[in-house]
Amino acid sequence: MTVSLSGGPDGDWDLAAFRRPGSAAVAASTAFGSDEQLTVAVNSGDRLAVQACRRSGGGPAAVPLRFDFYEMDASAPADGRISLESVSISGPSELARLERLGLDVTHDVSEEAATVALYSARERARLAAAGFSATTLIPDLAAEDAADRRSEGLATRVAAASPLPSGRESYRVYNDYTSRMKAIAENNARLVRPVVLGRTFEDRPIQGVEIATDVRRTDDGRPVYLNMGLHHAREWPSGELPMEFALDLVRGFRNGNARIRSLLERVRVIIVPVVNVDGFIASRSYGTSPADDDSLATLPFAINDQAAYKRKNCRPTVPGSAAMPCALRSNSGVDLNRNYGAYWGGSGSSSDRTAQSYRGTGPYSEPESQAVHAFTASLHPTVFITNHTFTSDGKWLRQPGFDDVIKVTPDEPAMKDLGDDMAGTTGWTSELGYATLGDITGATEDWNYFSQGTYGYTPEVRGTNFHANYADSVVEE
Ligand SMILES: [Zn+2]
Repeated sequence: MTVSLSGGPDGDWDLAAFRRPGSAAVAASTAFGSDEQLTVAVNSGDRLAVQACRRSGGGPAAVPLRFDFYEMDASAPADGRISLESVSISGPSELARLERLGLDVTHDVSEEAATVALYSARERARLAAAGFSATTLIPDLAAEDAADRRSEGLATRVAAASPLPSGRESYRVYNDYTSRMKAIAENNARLVRPVVLGRTFEDRPIQGVEIATDVRRTDDGRPVYLNMGLHHAREWPSGELPMEFALDLVRGFRNGNARIRSLLERVRVIIVPVVNVDGFIASRSYGTSPADDDSLATLPFAINDQAAYKRKNCRPTVPGSAAMPCALRSNSGVDLNRNYGAYWGGSGSSSDRTAQSYRGTGPYSEPESQAVHAFTASLHPTVFITNHTFTSDGKWLRQPGFDDVIKVTPDEPAMKDLGDDMAGTTGWTSELGYATLGDITGATEDWNYFSQGTYGYTPEVRGTNFHANYADSVVEE
């Protein structure tokens, strides 16, 4: 069941669904403004109360509310065992051949091996038939994920507190992001300002926070530092890190931390933790049932680029898939990190609508990448960080992301210095973008570098899979 409230950008309405009066909400939507959407799995006969709440004025006194239902088959797909394999390769041409097999090649690539997610016995057979040799890293990824979610759930139930600014022990759902952004903006009005970049394919606002002293000034000309996450839906740690960074800045400022105060006087920091909002909701929350409150509910639906392992956005690119919910479409969507305009359509992107690296029909064809582009084009960002997962050693990748125009940028010495510093702090490697991952074109920060001189970095967070155990993949990193 999807419930939508369409009140526009003014005022602030929120939306929540409850199973019993006084119980915690089973689903909620807490965007800035008055456009809200929540999705929740219900069984025949379930009773829910849906509450729309006008939190502050200025907006409409009454707003349209809409209910949509999609009847879904809850049975697991046949032979749905997903494995993570390390496939031996001997260079970029073998990596390209692997991608042409239509397999899900992850970001974890070295000169000798690429980590590949295989979603069925058929895919495992296809890999072997093509002459590749593979070593299994995780034989049953869904089972491993389930174990990780259970241990995170246990840590949360015993009220353990991690050393993160939030103290969290488990991955946020989307509503956790929006609620917290709203809270820090409301409680720190001179320091934190809500920003809305645009809307997603499914018409959700893409939002973030701007953090700076006297944040509402418009005449100071301070440089801008951008930090974004979750272009790729299944890479849950990539949203946690920018969100925790936002909380760290606010807490440090309030506690009188001299370094953070000085930083926020000199620089405007803009943090957008979730760019691919639709995809993240499909990956993190789809199928969550109020009947059993099962946080593992997306796993049975997890097959190729679907549900928990969805990477791309929610445009239905596979014929016949438009009628079903985003989370249930296999292989559909556009890879937002191949859809940006600089050198769009070049190497390391695909024109195949089912491919994981499908670049879309044209530069900025997707509302999410267009929104980020239009927003950043009006700023003067000096550094732009877009977070991704996962690599086994952790990487700070810098411009350029491909070597067919220039092998190194004119800014290489300074960009390398900064990348090396960040790598030294995190204990990861510092590399040119194409060095081991191979060429990628149409990536997020390319246009900002080539047009604005923005130093662009892609952190590939260290980990063992897309969203492995929170303590390891988020707290430790
Ligand atoms: Zn990614």
